[in-house]
Amino acid sequence: MFDRSGLPKSVTVYEVGPRDGLQNEAVILPTTVKAELVKRLLNSGISAIEVASFVRPDIVPALADADELLVELAPMLSTHRMSALVPNQKGLDRALKSGLQEIAVFASATESFARANLNNSVVGSLDIFGPVIRTARDAGIRVRGYISMCFSDPWEGKTATDKVADVAMRLLADGVTEISIGDTIGTATPGEVIDLLDAFDSRGISRSLLAVHFHDTYGQALSNTLTAMLEGITTIDSSIGGLGGCPFAKSATGNLATEDLVWQLHGLGISTGIDFDTLLLTSAWLGLQTGIKVRSKTAIALVGKNS
Ligand code: MG
Repeated sequence: MFDRSGLPKSVTVYEVGPRDGLQNEAVILPTTVKAELVKRLLNSGISAIEVASFVRPDIVPALADADELLVELAPMLSTHRMSALVPNQKGLDRALKSGLQEIAVFASATESFARANLNNSVVGSLDIFGPVIRTARDAGIRVRGYISMCFSDPWEGKTATDKVADVAMRLLADGVTEISIGDTIGTATPGEVIDLLDAFDSRGISRSLLAVHFHDTYGQALSNTLTAMLEGITTIDSSIGGLGGCPFAKSATGNLATEDLVWQLHGLGISTGIDFDTLLLTSAWLGLQTGIKVRSKTAIALVGKNS
């Protein structure tokens, strides 16, 4: 029986569109438009946003203006939770200069993806992140640790839950303040979500340290978020308009759309602090700016109803 008493009263929607979304789209937005996107998202009530990435500008041209963007966002950094991806010490130096109070590192659960995405082994990349995490923590900065390919990867098939838990334990030992469990190619089904959370349990990792990052490639994202919430997860990643995906999973759908997630949460009576109408207007505005069709089914349905 479906027991809604097991659901959280409130959930933090962690918006990844400005970074994970735009990084994986062909369009390059001007810095001022990116800054306005972040402001509009904050104005809709989103309380946590990943805004940029301090990777080398030539590697991710869409996010090459991270330093300039952070200058524009600087007045809001002390009052809002904003973060940026940091791949190494150089990236951390830029993040520290920006005044951000939170950064993120991007680890892999599988060797093949570590090679493809980080040009390193799983442990080799964690060895690079270790000092970055510790230096950030010493500076009083929170660190989110992404783990990608937590359920399967395109080369190795299903990912062993123990491998993911090993990476999580290492990140936590180094000082990360939150782990985001990524289903990078979107294959996970609810039973696998429970199995992975059980593996985290067996290592003594508290659910309060965990977030989930589901992709809707196989249409499973909302089933998986619901399952994760029933298992005690209260931070969920999503991307406005369903922007972005994974370059290693060629498909029209990638990130779970924020509008679809919020529709589910509010439908369940779970509070998010988000004003849904303002969120929808932001999504429509972003569609005009990017020229990318909004991929949120909820947004498409509501716009169709009103036209
Ligand atoms: Mg993603």
